[in-house]
Amino acid sequence: MRKQTRTAAVGSIRIGGGNPVILQSMTKTETTDVAGCLKQIQKLVKAGAGLVRIAVPTRADTEAFGKIVQKSPVPLVADIHFSPDRAIEAIEAGAAKIRLNPGNVKNKDDILRIIDCAKRHHIAIRVGVNEASIRDLKHDVGRDHRVMLMLEEMTSYVRMFERNGFENLVLSAKSADTVRTIEINRAISEAFDYPVHIGLTHAGLLEDALVPSSIAIGTLLAEGIGDTVRVSIAGDPVQEIEAGKKILASVGLYKQPQPELIVCPTCGRCQIDVVGLAKKVRKVLQKSNKPIRVAVMGCVVNGPGEAADADLAICAGSGKGFLYKNGQKIAAVDEVNLLTAISEQLLTF
Ligand code: SF4
Repeated sequence: MRKQTRTAAVGSIRIGGGNPVILQSMTKTETTDVAGCLKQIQKLVKAGAGLVRIAVPTRADTEAFGKIVQKSPVPLVADIHFSPDRAIEAIEAGAAKIRLNPGNVKNKDDILRIIDCAKRHHIAIRVGVNEASIRDLKHDVGRDHRVMLMLEEMTSYVRMFERNGFENLVLSAKSADTVRTIEINRAISEAFDYPVHIGLTHAGLLEDALVPSSIAIGTLLAEGIGDTVRVSIAGDPVQEIEAGKKILASVGLYKQPQPELIVCPTCGRCQIDVVGLAKKVRKVLQKSNKPIRVAVMGCVVNGPGEAADADLAICAGSGKGFLYKNGQKIAAVDEVNLLTAISEQLLTF
């Protein structure tokens, strides 16, 4: 069950409070390339992003941000580091939320200026703590203590916002370590009822990022923690949304509007080229947006059981496959004709 949190208002969307988990990513083009950013935002939204974050390190970037906001189909988050002026410029330019690590802003009066501006514009603030900044501040701190220190840091920030009458918050505690990401998010979720943004930071290239991110984000979501997700991947940001959808789907928080392919892992009982056939079936399925479940199974040991739950299934026999539809065996097909047979059956759904 999802943990009950307050609701943060971020432009037209709502984060937390039982609303669907929002997937988000960042643009990776230069922010001053307004057309390039808008093109990337469109791709992200088409892939399933509900929110997009944009870095605004310079004055020219906040100016461009204002132009991007006007044409963006989703609310935008301005990513702020160090500069209170950039934060205020981005809010005035139309940011629906800013991401701010208060530890990066030296003068506390500047944080109060940002809070005032955010209040006047009715925007949200994602308050961040990062394991790297804890380590920098207290470099002799052992790993075991970092979660506690991150929680202390988050608590001091949250209390500062609350003292100044600002509660439209999303909390975010980031680490590149899978276990500490889980631990710190459990801790802040226990300590506060604000919505939580989850994800590993700097997770790496696609092939390195997927497993740790899936474990951290999937574990937290399965425990009901997490209201918005970013899967950090060095590469095309659309991959972040695709990966996020798969993680949400695997914990039952998203129903993929596309076919699902189940393939047995194969073993010594396998009676056809399951992997070769599954790859071809996958290609056929990629052209479909029907939410059906297709199974390719290498023998009759587990095949009929899986087939019973699938809309369409192949269970291999010797040099052939039995075709199942809605759990019923409908044909025995030679191995060479299996792909054609399953493709034809797909058209009937
Ligand atoms: S379905 Fe058959 S071939 Fe595939 S893994 Fe199970 S026992 Fe092995």
